[in-house]
Amino acid sequence: MTYTQPQLPYPSDSLAPAISQETIDFHYGKHEKAYIDNLNKLIKDTEFDNEDLEEVIRRAEGPLFNNASQAWNHIFYFFSFSPDGGGEPSGELADAIRRDFGSFDNFKEEFEKAGVSLFGSGWVWLSRDQDGKLFITQEPNAGNPLRKGLTPILTFDVWEHAYYLDYQNRRADALKSLWDIIDWDMVESRY
Ligand code: MN
Repeated sequence: MTYTQPQLPYPSDSLAPAISQETIDFHYGKHEKAYIDNLNKLIKDTEFDNEDLEEVIRRAEGPLFNNASQAWNHIFYFFSFSPDGGGEPSGELADAIRRDFGSFDNFKEEFEKAGVSLFGSGWVWLSRDQDGKLFITQEPNAGNPLRKGLTPILTFDVWEHAYYLDYQNRRADALKSLWDIIDWDMVESRY
């Protein structure tokens, strides 16, 4: 199976100022494309060649895991945004956030804190378990909560390449800006 990079559902200049066109063109156009190209090279003629990508992420190790997971994580991340995004979730996800984190504001604070305190490169995740309980986890490097049996709902990329062009070393400001572009309809559909 050959993986291809899906077209983003918005123009690359439409998420500014939260994420600039330059960052999207590098981050999605170059970094993400390289992970997909590497995945296609590495998966060829392995036992994983005809598996679902999520199954590759759960079971592969080393460079194949790293590139498979980075390919998946970035699509999940970039498809969480919309130029018309922002605001608050509604429905069952909003109820679960209130139940498990006390309030939406408290959830945002805990999520940002987890992203800021992750040392080095990685991802901060909101995921659900089989009972619908929500968890915030930090995953280093290419990490993905699928490997812990959780279902991902939302992620922020905290690798420096995600924000350095726009925010330099100000990771906290970069993460805070993302709430303005979250496509909550999409995120709710994952819950
Ligand atoms: Mn990235």
